Amino acid sequence: MVIGVPKEIKSHENRVALLPGGVMKMKRNGHDVLIEKGAGINSGFPDEKYEEAGASIVDDVDNLWEQSEMIMKVKEPIEVEYDRMQEGQIIFTYFHFAASQTLTEAVVDSGCIAIAYETVEKADGSLPLLVPMSEVAGRMASQEGAKYLEKSQGGRGILLGGIPGVKPANVMVIGGGIVGVNAAKIAAGMGANTTIMDIDMQRLRYLDDVMSDNVDTMFSSQANIKSLLPNTDMIIGAVLKPGAKAPHLVTREMLGDMQKGAVLVDVAIDQGGCFETSKPTTHEDPIYEVDDIVHYCVTNMPGAVPYTSTLGLTNVTLSYAVNIANKGWKQALQDDSELQKGLNIANGQIVYRDVADAFDMPH
Ligand code: NAD
Repeated sequence: MVIGVPKEIKSHENRVALLPGGVMKMKRNGHDVLIEKGAGINSGFPDEKYEEAGASIVDDVDNLWEQSEMIMKVKEPIEVEYDRMQEGQIIFTYFHFAASQTLTEAVVDSGCIAIAYETVEKADGSLPLLVPMSEVAGRMASQEGAKYLEKSQGGRGILLGGIPGVKPANVMVIGGGIVGVNAAKIAAGMGANTTIMDIDMQRLRYLDDVMSDNVDTMFSSQANIKSLLPNTDMIIGAVLKPGAKAPHLVTREMLGDMQKGAVLVDVAIDQGGCFETSKPTTHEDPIYEVDDIVHYCVTNMPGAVPYTSTLGLTNVTLSYAVNIANKGWKQALQDDSELQKGLNIANGQIVYRDVADAFDMPH
């Protein structure tokens, strides 16, 4: 099969869908790989590395799309790419169809085979191609929060870990899933007293067993959250209610219970945010203040660390991609129920129910 990897052109997207190591694996399996010139450069992988691995570097992106039986991307195609999608062509990427009817219609009209990273699903309901991005966002959340606690950044000027003779900061992590546990690990690792809140008792029991001594667990209720606010220096919002908007667990009124210069990091902002005062921000302009509380609400946190994010993403996508290339999409999906869940649109038909339901379209 001919596999094409275009350079990502959505703004601030620096990741790439395939690494030189992935090219070598595809070649070993008998496939040809076309890489758009400069596709890996922002993740730290120059064209020469791809050439050494056996890829052909293609300058003309239209040409690359035309020749490729499978396109591997990171983000969904954007408007200039709609005409490049072809009938019967496999496109393996994050699509997030429910967020855009225009994209959904364009993919339906193209007749391509859209396999979405975000809906590939394991038998236990976990989403293996989303996990690494939650790991990145969780670890970054504490790092960013620590920075914005500095006085010069608008924070109250407290060092997360304290020093001998001076108490460390208190960090609250709301939601103890993938983001939450990674945020708590870094905050606690930097020495902060950390409390993880969740509504899933089984999860809290597990976290109580495995986390370090400076991490406590607490059942998540508004009363419990409110009780900790006067002494909390940083809150990380990491809840997820599958298929729903995040609940507002800290209201504007509750900000009055916190000390001036405390920091809120709302990782759940891509689901609407779990603080009432959250609104989406960008890496260029990541923070704002409400009632003297610093808010950090960047929607695509992994975009700041494309090297780590690209490695994390390609670690989990490559084996699925190799199977699709080796067997063809129909057989690969038939043999693998996880991958089957990834099929959203095929030959002009929406096959993933939630996508059809989002826009009242047939499936
Ligand atoms: P996850 O499913 O692993 O964990 C979510 C946790 O929230 C679960 O343990 C669940 O029990 C808990 N929860 C649900 N309701 C709660 C409540 N009322 N109080 C406390 N806990 C509650 O999800 P995840 O992978 O950790 O993702 C968390 C959020 O981060 C999602 O909204 C995800 O989209 C988002 N995210 C954002 C970025 C970004 O760049 N901003 C990147 C990755 C993930």
